Amino acid sequence: MSASVSRRTFLGIAGGAVSVLGLAACGGNNDAESGDDANAASDDTSDKTYIVATDTTFAPFEFTNDANEFVGIDVDILAAIAADQGFTYELNSLGFDAAVAALESNQADAVIAGMSITEERLEKYDFSDPYYDSYVCAAAAEGGEVSSLENLNGMTVACKTGTQSASWAESIAEEYGFTITYFDTSDMMYQDVLTGNTAACFEDYPVMAYGVAQGNGLTIIGTDEEEYATPYGFAVMKGENPELIEMFNAGLANIRESGEYDEIVAKYLEA
Ligand code: GLN
Repeated sequence: MSASVSRRTFLGIAGGAVSVLGLAACGGNNDAESGDDANAASDDTSDKTYIVATDTTFAPFEFTNDANEFVGIDVDILAAIAADQGFTYELNSLGFDAAVAALESNQADAVIAGMSITEERLEKYDFSDPYYDSYVCAAAAEGGEVSSLENLNGMTVACKTGTQSASWAESIAEEYGFTITYFDTSDMMYQDVLTGNTAACFEDYPVMAYGVAQGNGLTIIGTDEEEYATPYGFAVMKGENPELIEMFNAGLANIRESGEYDEIVAKYLEA
């Protein structure tokens, strides 16, 4: 067991090194003067509208409710922090991988999407202070034949591209003998399991637990609460929009202090 843990840790470090190279190439392409002047456009923050990218379906953090409103813990926290700090923003619901791609291609200034603060990502992005603790899980159809990770031998599972839960699945695929198909959104992944195309899906625990409680037809069959336990943070590209991270952190501290943070979380989780 400890051998496989250290192998996964090693892969994590190797992945980080690849990310650094990717960033260097990307910075060269996007911004010829990536030195001190790179943020010239954002130096005057008073009338800037920040573009913030987010996921599409990741309840309770971001989702479209029955009244067709785009809501969630991330949506409300960002609104509360922006009101507290006096900045304006536009929230673009793109999907997780697409939100990160938008950030990397300068189509967005920041991402708030239940995005896990990982060692590997810290090489590429600056994160706010953590605002929510999370870990990963696997889920299968309720009442079906798959009730544990051991049942996945020889089967195909669904993962969401670019996520922590996908990284966990990749790290245990050989051990449990399953293969992986990738989806862009959580709802597509759940649907694939419900229709029986895939035997299970991998997801963040708070999101799956919320979905199960809402009766999404799935049941949790395994978790990783240690290696893949990572809090969520608000992200910008490394070295860019530092004032936005400062405002987010200051606003987060204020809404924690005032009780607004707890009210937001309770509104979704105790409804
Ligand atoms: N927390 C996970 C990650 O950062 C998944 C985020 C998401 O799917 N919106 O990889």
